[in-house]
Amino acid sequence: MAAKLLDGKLSSEALLGQVKSEVMRLGTQPCLAIVSIGENPSSQIYMKKKLEACQKTGMKGELIALPAKIPQEEAVRVLQDLNAREDVSGIIVQTPIPSNLDAASIQSVISPYKDADGFGIENLGWLFAGKPKIKPATPAGIMAMLSHYRIPVAGRHAVIVGRSNTVGKPIAQLLLMEDATVTIAHSKTRDLSQITKQADILIAAVGKPKLITSKMVKKGAVVVDVGMNRVLESGKIIEKADGDAGTSAKSKLVGDVDFEGVSKIASWISPVRGGVGPMTVASLISNTLICHRLQRQ
Ligand code: NAP
Repeated sequence: MAAKLLDGKLSSEALLGQVKSEVMRLGTQPCLAIVSIGENPSSQIYMKKKLEACQKTGMKGELIALPAKIPQEEAVRVLQDLNAREDVSGIIVQTPIPSNLDAASIQSVISPYKDADGFGIENLGWLFAGKPKIKPATPAGIMAMLSHYRIPVAGRHAVIVGRSNTVGKPIAQLLLMEDATVTIAHSKTRDLSQITKQADILIAAVGKPKLITSKMVKKGAVVVDVGMNRVLESGKIIEKADGDAGTSAKSKLVGDVDFEGVSKIASWISPVRGGVGPMTVASLISNTLICHRLQRQ
């Protein structure tokens, strides 16, 4: 392997360390409320990691577990109560949520000042206006990782594969704000590899195992793999994951990048697991501190 590793475990420890120092200076204890609806085994693991990260930084983590059959209005009421509580700094709703509920309208109840995931329409609006308050956690985590490893961004060509509101579009905007020249590719892009080969920084946020092969990458590129695909041995995708949960006997976690091939060509590469996943968690915790500050301004 020629490429150096963008080790998200190391960079996330550094970010959590900074948050911890700031929390110690506060004199008050920020609190992240995690609302889970129904029982999803992977979600249990992700939530545990988020609560552990709260503990590491001296923050409070509160888990509010709601039954799968909760009516929409009751779930909304729980979030409204959390919005009103002065001791709660940040709120997230752990996904996935049961399909009988309207996820978007439940998420939209979260106050923009407590929106620790940074997914809400107001926070996206502030971001795209160039004045972000709470940045979406995964894109913010990727930027923190690039900064931790002193990867220059200004003037470089960044290609992002994927245009979701939670990853692709916001990471494009954050890179643009740091003076990268940005191209966004998606499922309708023609000749994807002709575009990805131009990238100095290539970010794959697609949800297709090993879509990015060595033939699609320029020598010396920095490659960030956001993809987290839980796949069966047959290759079937069983879950789009949003965290760095472990591998079970029947399934394994695979990124959007063919790590083995691409690591021979890239200058830097993030692994799956231990890359973007831990940075997303650390960034969520850092966002909770930002929420705490915003509510006191
Ligand atoms: P998403 O909402 O499903 O978006 C996927 C994007 O990929 C879409 O814009 C889609 O294009 C594009 N796409 C699909 N097939 C393509 C192809 N063959 N060529 C080029 N583009 C293609 O997914 P997401 O929420 O952004 O998540 C992407 C991946 O990141 C998933 O594996 C997810 O599990 C992972 N993730 C990881 C973390 C973490 O903490 N590490 C956090 C969030 C997400 P269209 O818009 O044209 O459909």
